[in-house]
Amino acid sequence: MYYYFCHFCENRGNFRACGCTHGELLGCEGRPACRECESAHRSIGTFVKELLATDIAERSNSARASRLRVLLKAFATVRNNVRRPIFVSDELRACDPFSGNASNFAWHIVNAIQSLPLNQEFAKALDTEFKALRLQRAMESFSCAIKESIERDEQNRRGAFLQREMRQIRNQLDELIPPRRRAAR
Ligand SMILES: [Zn+2]
Ligand SMILES: [Zn+2]
Repeated sequence: MYYYFCHFCENRGNFRACGCTHGELLGCEGRPACRECESAHRSIGTFVKELLATDIAERSNSARASRLRVLLKAFATVRNNVRRPIFVSDELRACDPFSGNASNFAWHIVNAIQSLPLNQEFAKALDTEFKALRLQRAMESFSCAIKESIERDEQNRRGAFLQREMRQIRNQLDELIPPRRRAAR
């Protein structure tokens, strides 16, 4: 069956039903999608699947909490093109990354996602925010590694300093009492 409009953007053409394989999650099953939107669904769907697969957050920088923030930021970017922005923001606000109620979390995420514009613009916003998060993570572990190496360096220096001190004390002791005499005592 052929259609003449993409359900998700302004593109016109003979589009088949979306074949992104995330139909159930994104609600695009049976809806005509252009190639750009279908590929957008692949990346949006992958992001959402990974978000839902995360463990309950323990800290604000846990995978679930930080990925939820990525979704919130991407939503803020495309907010003007969202048909029901208040509904989406209410649903996203209802997502508690620290809650043990996983099905409740998934329910609100899916409600929000299916009301977002599932096109390239949103996929790009999501991708940009996710990259920013990964960059931040990389910077954090980089600065952590630097801090560790500085500390190690500091310890080595302190160790070397102590060894020098010990040698000097031993030398002074040797001058005061020659080793042979000291051994004889
Ligand atoms: Zn489209
Ligand atoms: Zn799709």
